[in-house]
Amino acid sequence: MTIPELITRNNGHPRISFELLPPVKGSSISTIFSMLDQLMAFQPPFINITYHREEISYVKQADGSLKPSVVRKRPGTVGIAAAIQARYKVDVVPHIICGGFSSQDTEDALIDLDFLGIRNLLVVRGDADKITGRFNPNPQGHRYASGLIDQIMNMNRGIYHDQCIENPSRTNFSIGVAGYPEKHPESPNAEEDLFYLKQKVDKGAEYIVSQMFYDNEVFFNFVKRCRDAGIQVPIIPGLKPLSIREHFHLLPRTFHLTIPPALVKEVNQCKDNKMVRELGIEWTVQQIKELRDAGHPFVHLYTMGKVDNIVKISEKVL
Ligand code: FAD
Repeated sequence: MTIPELITRNNGHPRISFELLPPVKGSSISTIFSMLDQLMAFQPPFINITYHREEISYVKQADGSLKPSVVRKRPGTVGIAAAIQARYKVDVVPHIICGGFSSQDTEDALIDLDFLGIRNLLVVRGDADKITGRFNPNPQGHRYASGLIDQIMNMNRGIYHDQCIENPSRTNFSIGVAGYPEKHPESPNAEEDLFYLKQKVDKGAEYIVSQMFYDNEVFFNFVKRCRDAGIQVPIIPGLKPLSIREHFHLLPRTFHLTIPPALVKEVNQCKDNKMVRELGIEWTVQQIKELRDAGHPFVHLYTMGKVDNIVKISEKVL
């Protein structure tokens, strides 16, 4: 079933989907299973698995110098998605990114996913380089998520990157994309960002998952702007509970989002990060309740690799 079909069938009941990260290279898949063993109690409608491009690490040499080394720290998205689907019989949504992929690499990954019976994809560009702050596309790949959408929609029509295929079969992928209630950090303004979000929908995206936000008014305003711009697809609110005081600086800097004054005030009253984590749980619970009352029963929670707070939130709202 596609995600929009799941939303329609759900008939307004509160549901929470979860986003998981593949474990760091060298870790066992049991780290993912132990998280899901806890999360499946809440009957998530689907589970997202992020994709991570290669990064440059600096390895210390015997003489003390640092040697750059290119590594993919969290490989395994396709394998994990298939393993979760087989073990828990739940719909999975692997993320597909432009960064680090040529169109040919993407085509091969999509063929794997099609053979595995995985239909739902979240299509994103991928993060910019942490050091330069710039996104470097693969020279034979896509610069924007919209190019990746074109490629996937072409495969759905039986048009492959590899033009030598005889009688190509059509895939049946359903595409979700990212949307930014407070605009994407690299976009010059909200209108421009919305223009390109609409372009992704017009090219074939069937729903939007929002970047995290801490003030529901920001999300409501975003939904209204989308609707006014003619974007009619479902928009799923994405939430990440605040869990450490440092998020105050990290989240606005990294994701260009605002922490509302009321939350700042409450965090400032916390004595330690344990209290911040509890506050983050309560804040997210209130956000989810308000979103539900405003007609958004589907909520997507970013786990960032830890689920104790996610479990507590789910217990309180489902
Ligand atoms: P795009 O839609 O390509 O937009 C990027 C920027 O370019 C925006 O400023 C946009 O306004 C502008 N733009 C878009 N199209 C054009 C165009 N044709 N011409 C000019 N400008 C254009 N990152 C990962 O690495 N792995 C993940 O698994 C992952 N999952 C995510 C899931 C969600 C729900 C979200 C919200 C983000 C996720 N990210 C992930 C982060 C994401 O990769 C970054 O936010 C990235 O910087 C932008 O991705 P995008 O798909 O929104 O980009």
